[in-house]
Amino acid sequence: MSNNIRRGFVLVISSPSGAGKTTICKKIIEEVDGIDLSVSVTTRQKRKDEINGKDYFFRSEKEFKILEKNEEFLESANVFGFSYGTLKEEVVSKIEKGIDIIVDIDWQGTRQIQKNLSNDIVKVFILPPSIKELENRLGKRASEDKKNFLKRMSEARKEISHYTEYDFVIINNEIEKSVSQIKSILFSERLRRFRQLNLNKVVDNLK
Ligand code: 5GP
Repeated sequence: MSNNIRRGFVLVISSPSGAGKTTICKKIIEEVDGIDLSVSVTTRQKRKDEINGKDYFFRSEKEFKILEKNEEFLESANVFGFSYGTLKEEVVSKIEKGIDIIVDIDWQGTRQIQKNLSNDIVKVFILPPSIKELENRLGKRASEDKKNFLKRMSEARKEISHYTEYDFVIINNEIEKSVSQIKSILFSERLRRFRQLNLNKVVDNLK
């Protein structure tokens, strides 16, 4: 008998924009089995290096509103003046199949998922090592103009103020170390008793 029937969970990763979150999430997906990345819907413009359907589902405001009206979102929020949302189908059926899902969302979305899936959420906040480093990273993004950059810096400070709402906080000094720290969280959370659905049968067989 298999002894690893498990309920998956939502691994929420939040951080101010430019703290290295996207790179970290991609590495975890590459290096760990049994975990997928949720692709969000957004109404913001696609950046040069982004792919529709892989980085985001890029949609118009009108299309976003229809998805909202049809209750297809697990959570949605306005971030930097654009709409962002996590689709239920990207998350719910997968965790029931024992697959973990990384969602890269802001504090507003995290609160909504906390409300809807309170037992199935693990919340990690990533801090940049310093404000200087954050400025460097945001400033280096070629696609952002100056006004947008300043707006993002102000949004970053706001996002950081919500770190206390998270279970774990990682200071991203070095990508590889942060990835390894998140893996430790992930592997430990997988072992939580309530996520292991057939422990009673396993234990019965030990009698
Ligand atoms: P960016 O536009 O730079 O990719 O993301 C901007 C911010 O929006 C990031 O903080 C990111 O975590 C957040 N975000 C991306 N997708 C979602 C989503 O589906 N829901 C929410 N609430 N925030 C999101």
